[in-house]
Amino acid sequence: MGSLGAFMVTDSSLFSRLFASLRRSPAAIVQWFDADYMPEGADKMRATPDRVDWMRCIPFIILHAGCLGVIWTGWSPVAVWTAVALYFLRMFAVTGIYHRYFSHKTYSTSRLGQFFLALWGGTTVQRGPLWWAYHHRHHHQHSDDPEDAHSPHVHGFWWSHIGWITSKRNFPTDYTKVKDLAKFPELVLLNRFDTVVPILFAVAVWGFGWLLEVYAPGLGTTSWQMLFWGFFISTTALFHGTSCINSMAHLMGKRRFKTEDDSRNSFILALITLGEGWHNNHHRYMSATRQGFYWWEIDITYYGLKALSWTRLITGLKPVPKSIMEEAARADHDASVVAARRAALVHPDYSSLRRVVPAAIAVATVNAAQMTMPQRADDPAIHKDVTELAHELSKQNPSASAPSDASGREFMS
Ligand SMILES: [Zn+2]
Ligand SMILES: [Zn+2]
Repeated sequence: MGSLGAFMVTDSSLFSRLFASLRRSPAAIVQWFDADYMPEGADKMRATPDRVDWMRCIPFIILHAGCLGVIWTGWSPVAVWTAVALYFLRMFAVTGIYHRYFSHKTYSTSRLGQFFLALWGGTTVQRGPLWWAYHHRHHHQHSDDPEDAHSPHVHGFWWSHIGWITSKRNFPTDYTKVKDLAKFPELVLLNRFDTVVPILFAVAVWGFGWLLEVYAPGLGTTSWQMLFWGFFISTTALFHGTSCINSMAHLMGKRRFKTEDDSRNSFILALITLGEGWHNNHHRYMSATRQGFYWWEIDITYYGLKALSWTRLITGLKPVPKSIMEEAARADHDASVVAARRAALVHPDYSSLRRVVPAAIAVATVNAAQMTMPQRADDPAIHKDVTELAHELSKQNPSASAPSDASGREFMS
C-alpha cells in the first residue's frame, strides 16, 4: 500500500506538473511544430537553468508508449525485419549525415545532394540538421566541462542520455554557430519545421504496411503493425542507440589518445552505432570521414559513405592524416609497454617467463641437435664436460693436474 500510495502521489504530481505546464506555456505546443517560435527570445531560453521541461517530455512519452501498440497488433517477420532495417538505415543517417556531414563536413556533396541528405537525416526523429550540428559542435568545444550539455561526468548518466534534450535551454538552435549551414534557406526551413519529415516518414511506414496488407496478404502484416514496429519501436531503439554515445562513450572503453576530455573507444558502442564507438579517435581528429582508424576498428558508416562516394552523390572523403596515424601507433606502443609492466607487477610468475622461455628454447635446440647429429657410441668423451674429463684424466694420470690444449685435442681423437 505504501509503495502504491507513493506511486499515486508521484503519478498525480507528474500529471499536475504536466497540465500546469500546458496552461502556463502554450508556446511549447506551437514549438512542437515550429521550432523557431520563441516569443521570449532564444537568448532568454538558453539562459534558463538546466532542468527537465515536462512539455518537452511529451513527444518522448508518446514515442515510448507507442511501442506498446504491438501488444494489439502482434508481430510478423516482415514487420520485425523492417524495424531492424530502418534502425540501421537511419543510424547511418545519424552518424554518416547529421554527424559526419552536417556537424563536421568530412566530405562534400552538391546542394541537391545536401538537401536529400537532410531529408534522410530528418527521418531519424532527432530534430533538424542545424540543431543537431550546433549542439554537436558545442559538445566538441566544451567536452566534459560544465558547459557541455551532455557530459556524464558533469551531469550524470540519465541527464546526458535523455534529460538534456528535454531542457528548455537546449531547445533553440543558435544559427550564428552554424553559419555555413544557415545560409541555405531550405535547410533552415527543414530545421524550423522539424516534425514534418518524421510525420511524413511515419505515414509512409504505415502506407508501406497497408500496401503489403492489401497486395501481399501472405506476409501476414498490417498497416498498424508496420507503424508500431517500423516507426515506434525502431525509432525508440534508434534514439537510445544514438544516446549511448552521449551517455557512455565518455565512460566505457579505452583511451588511445590523451585528449582533454574523457572520450573513449568502444567496440560494442561501435557496433550499436555503426562506427561512432571510436569516439576517442574522433575527439582526437574530428575532420576525418572515418572514425575507426584501423581495419579492425569496425566502422560500417565509413564503408557506407565510401560506397556512396562511388555513386558520386558525395565526394572528397577526408582521410586521417599521417601524423595522426603515427601518433596512434606511438600511443598503442606505449600502451602495450605499460600493459606488459602492469601484468608483470600483478602476476609475478609472468616475469619468470623471461627465464623459462629461453631455457625451453635451449632444451629444444639441444634435443633437435641430438636428433639430427649421429651418436658416436665409440667416443663417450664427446658428451662429457671438460672439467669432468680433466678430473677423470687426473685420476688416470696423477702427474697431469689439468688438461692442456694438446690433451684436450687428445680427448677428441
Ligand atoms: Zn564526445
Ligand atoms: Zn563529432
